[in-house]
Order: sequence, then structure tokens, then C-alpha cells
Amino acid sequence: MLSEITDIQYLKGVGEKRARLLKKLGIASVGALLSYYPRSYRYLTDIKEIYEGSLDETVCVKCRIITPVTEHYIRKNMTIYKFRVADNSGNMQVTLFNTKYTAQKLHVGSVYLFYGKLDGNDFLREMSSPEIYEENNNTILPIYNLTAGITSKHLATLVKNALNLCAITDPLPEEIVKQNSLTDKRTALQNIHFPKSREALEVAKKRLIFEELFILQSGMRYFKALRRGNTAVKLKNDYTKEFLTSLPFNLTTSQVNVINECITDMQKSVPMNRLVQGDVGSGKTAVAAALAYNAIKNGYQAVLMAPTVILAEQHYATFCNFFQDNGINTALITSSTKAAAKRKILEGVKNGEIDMLIGTHAVISENVEFDNLGLVITDEQHRFGVEQRSALSKKGQSPHTLVMSATPIPRTLAMVVYGELDVSVITEYPKGRQKIDSYSVSKDLRRRVYTFVKKHLDEGRQGYVICPLVEENDTERLSAEVWYEKLQKTFFKDYKLGLLHGKMKDSEKEKVMREFSLGNIDLLISTTVVEVGIDVPNATVMVIEDADCFGLSQLHQLRGRIGRGEHKSTCIMVSRNEKTAEKDRLKIISATSDGFRIAEEDLKLRGPGDFIGKRQHGLPELKIADINNDYNILKLTALAAETLSKQDERLEKEQNKPLKNEILRLFANI
Ligand code: ADP
Ligand code: MG
Repeated sequence: MLSEITDIQYLKGVGEKRARLLKKLGIASVGALLSYYPRSYRYLTDIKEIYEGSLDETVCVKCRIITPVTEHYIRKNMTIYKFRVADNSGNMQVTLFNTKYTAQKLHVGSVYLFYGKLDGNDFLREMSSPEIYEENNNTILPIYNLTAGITSKHLATLVKNALNLCAITDPLPEEIVKQNSLTDKRTALQNIHFPKSREALEVAKKRLIFEELFILQSGMRYFKALRRGNTAVKLKNDYTKEFLTSLPFNLTTSQVNVINECITDMQKSVPMNRLVQGDVGSGKTAVAAALAYNAIKNGYQAVLMAPTVILAEQHYATFCNFFQDNGINTALITSSTKAAAKRKILEGVKNGEIDMLIGTHAVISENVEFDNLGLVITDEQHRFGVEQRSALSKKGQSPHTLVMSATPIPRTLAMVVYGELDVSVITEYPKGRQKIDSYSVSKDLRRRVYTFVKKHLDEGRQGYVICPLVEENDTERLSAEVWYEKLQKTFFKDYKLGLLHGKMKDSEKEKVMREFSLGNIDLLISTTVVEVGIDVPNATVMVIEDADCFGLSQLHQLRGRIGRGEHKSTCIMVSRNEKTAEKDRLKIISATSDGFRIAEEDLKLRGPGDFIGKRQHGLPELKIADINNDYNILKLTALAAETLSKQDERLEKEQNKPLKNEILRLFANI
């Protein structure tokens, strides 16, 4: 008996030469051959009549040969064979090239299946080089991706041998197979290569997709469990109540719940590694402050890293405000901190005088040393890479880490996207928050839109105009720069406009943002760089040009820049796409302000690709599952993987051994 790890060259029917070809296809072992799934299938079960199919359609017809096969010598190496066939719908001319052997076997009166493309016309149909099968070959044949020197037929034969000779272990624990009514591994493999019927093929596919996604998710959980070392930072006391008395508002239930989840984490002997997701304005900063407060009162230091200088400054102001009466020492370092001041701060951080350090990525730099770092917080984490986050963690002895993100990701996807993190979600907004009025209009109304914007500016408010990113040669859409000049020279010539886009230097961007937050700019013309957590409460109006170019979640993020103060805010999405689907899409975002609902809609409309993007990079390649199409199975596997992980996090139980082996094999190269 062979096993799945047996080298492919020991399989019956594989010589040295074929082994080389197979290895070219990535098939080095018997197991790899078995999981070399067909690219498509040839359905000899679906038989059409000759005149039923349309011209150019590839069909399988069942016909009787009605004329003898004639041989025509064309030139050297080119002999063709012609004959007619018929079914109930009429006749068809068949032509074969250089197939003496096949031609000799075909006789008038016999019936065969002919698989090929319908050609000719509606008076006489033709088929060139069809594949010819026995009359009662009622099967679905596998078609594989190939390399020169090997055919689908060869591969099919080898797979058959492998299925006969190889002992197959099922990596899925029995429980899970049962609970999800999956077919067993052997039947699944049998039917993915040689389906008995379309139904059997579907059952096999479902099982193998489930397996693949389950292993992916279990693998991530498994490695997460292994990586988890112990931490020296174990909070003894919970000071949350004390902190709340110094807050100018009451926390929402959801904020309290998330704080509690984190405190529980921080009282364990393994470091917390948690993502807090909360829609823009849900109050993540207060959550972060509560946790920092706890770490500090328990005798540790905390650090907060923000993606831009302005955000770091905002956080600094907020934290100082929260902490001012609590004897906590808070400091800020960014690229614009003067050398002398910086030296003093670094000294304080090192000797423990400073409890709370806030900054940009400057806080990662080598000369920042902590006395006793207990908690690392990163804000708007998608702006930082994993490396930057872990560089910060290395400044302590396995400190707890908290990352905050305003990009809502449906729960089921969070596991795929942030495999290494636990996830908490702030699900409600602070009370008394104004709903943003959102409208979707066509470009014909643009003049009215800008008149409306003017009205806001005249009342002393500020606003944004968001332009899509553009290709240089895209004349249809105006770039931010062009918009800026155009608006400044014409409609808004009496107002102060600002320009912000990704090609500007960081220092230039910051200057513009600062002017805007000081109220010196009335209307900011910007690309999506303005997305990240900036808080200008006086900005109450936003126009999003070419809104049809943006994902719903992104529109929602952008919109979150307004509606942050006491004044009513309005977001107007200008769309040039007149299609109904597009209108429906924008209607969703006009109708709801729940970022998670919007994310779910986005997921339905555009698939999870948008959320996952490059993050999937670094995971095993998917052979049969497609995260976009198999989202429903993904949800099942997420649940199953979570349950299993709770029972046997490190896969130490005997019944989970096959799963563990498969995970180790699949993740081996990563
Ligand atoms: P985000 O989650 O987008 O980072 P912030 O933390 O900046 O949101 O909070 C947005 C605003 O709401 C801030 O002005 C903050 O002070 C305020 N806020 C936060 N939590 C509450 C609360 N429970 N009640 C009232 N206001 C709150
Ligand atoms: Mg924030």
C-alpha cells in the first residue's frame, strides 16, 4: 500500500521521465497527485442533438455513422478522413486529421459519442477533430491543466491507480465531518476526479472546499497558539471604575464590554493580542485610554502609536485631558519634536518617569527604551505593517498589544484577514450623535451641489471634496489638482481652498491638515488620503466625486470625517454611472450608517477580495476554494475551526493528529 507522501515515481504507471513531467506540474507525491484537481469536466452525460446546439457551441452528440470513412491524401504528413453521421435531427459531416488508427475502427452503422465544436451551417453541420467515445460511455471526464508530454487521459489513469493503491487519511476530525454532513475523503477524491453525476461532483467539491478553508483557519489558530509565549505583564487589579470617574462622559455598554474583554486578557499569563474594531466615532480612543490607565496603575508603562503627526497630537491632547488629575505623566514624540525636548523625553521613558508615551512611528526608533513597558497600542492599524507593530512589542518583555481599526470587517472574515489577532467589536455609538444626511446624485446636479456647499461655508462651516485616484491619461475624471485649480478659480474664488493628495510629502500634507483643522482652509480638495482618523468637528459637508469608483466601506470611511461636531452634516455622492445597480449600491449607503452592515453589503456585492487584498499573501495557496465564491462555506469553517481550537488549541489530541500533520505540511514553506 502506498501513502500520500510516497514519491510520485513509485506509483504504478509512472516512470522516471513521467515523474519529471509530473514534478513540473508540482506533483511530487501521490498525495499531490490526488489533490491535483481537474480544471474542468467533459460531460458525456449531456447529450444534444446535432441541430439543437448552436453553431460554435461545443457539444456532445450521439450519432450513427451513415457513410463509409474516406481517406484523402493532402500532402506529406497530412491525411484527412471524412464521413457522415446522423441522429434524429439530421446529418453532420465529420473530418479527422492524421488518425489512421481511429479511422480504421469506425464502421457504417455503429453509434458513437462525438465531442467537439459545431461548425458548418444550418443545412449541413460539420465537426472537425471531435473526440470519439463509445456509445454508452456515460461519464463525466476530468480535464486537467497540463504540460507538454502529458494528457488529461494519462493523468486520469494515474489518479485511478493512486486511488486504488493509496491509503487515504482524512485530515478532518470525524466530529466535524459529521456535524457538517460532509462526505468522506476517499469518496470526495473519487468524485472530484471521476464524478458519478453532477450532484456527486457538487458534494465532493463542497467537502474539499470545506477541508481547504478549515485547514487554513485551523492552521492560523494553531500557529497563533504556539507563538503565544508567556508575559511578565500580568495586571493584578482592575482600575477601570476609578478611571471612569475622570471621564467627561459615560461609556457606552459596548465600550465597557470591550474594555472588560481586554482586561481579562491582560490578567492572563499570555500576552493579549487583540484587535478592537469600531466604526468611526464609536469611541475607540476612550477604550485605549482606559486600558493604558489600567496598565499604568498596575505599575507599567504604555505606548500609543498613531499613523500621522496630527493624529498623534490629537491623541496626546485627549490623553492629557483624561489623565491630568491622575498623576500620570504623558509625553509626545514625533518627527517634529525638537532634539533637546526629545532627549529629555527619552530619558524619562527610560527611567520610568514617563508613564504614557504617544507618538508616530518615531516611537519604534532604536533609541527609544522603556523601563517597564506593559501595553502597546497602535491606532488605525492598517496603516502599519506587522513588522512595525512587532518592533514596538520588542521594546518590552512580551507586553500586551492592542490594535485599533475603524475599517469594519465582517466577523467571519476577520479571522482570515487578521489570523494572528483576537477580535473585539464596539457595536454602538455614543448617545446624541447626529446622523449624517447622505444623498446620491447624478453629475447633472453638480452646480446645485456646490451651491449647497457654499451655503455651509458661508455659515462658517468647512467642507471636503473627495476626488478619485486617476490615471494620468484619464481625461474623463479630473485629478485632485485639476479640481482644485478649477474650483478655486471659478466657483469658489472667494474662498480659501486646500489641496491634499498622496503624492505630496508628509510634511506638506501635515501643513495642509493643520491649516484645515485650525479653520484657515474653508474647503479641502483631497484624494482618499484624508480617510484616516482626523477629527475636524467644524467640517460639516462632504462631496464625493465619482462615488461609483469607491467601495461602500470606503465611502463610509470617508463620510466619517464629517458629523463629528454639534452641527448637522451632509454627504453628497456624485455619480456618473447611471446604471440601476450602481444607484442601488449608493442607496444602501445613503440609508444606513452602520459600518458593519455596509461592510456586509460590500462583501455581498464585491466579494471579500476588497477586505483581504494583499493580506492573504503569506498563506498557503488555495487549490479549490475561492474566498469570493465560497463565503458561505467559509462561515462554516470559521465556526468549526474556532470550536476545535477551544477544545485543543495546540492540536495535541490523538484524533487531531492527521489535521496537525496536514497543517504542518501545508504551512511548511511559509
Ligand atoms: P474613533 O472610534 O473614531 O477613534 P474617537 O475615539 O475619536 O472615535 O471618539 C469620537 C468622539 O466621541 C470623541 O470626541 C470622543 O470624546 C467622543 N466619545 C467617545 N466615547 C464617548 C461616550 N461614551 N459618550 C460620549 N462621547 C464619547
Ligand atoms: Mg480614532
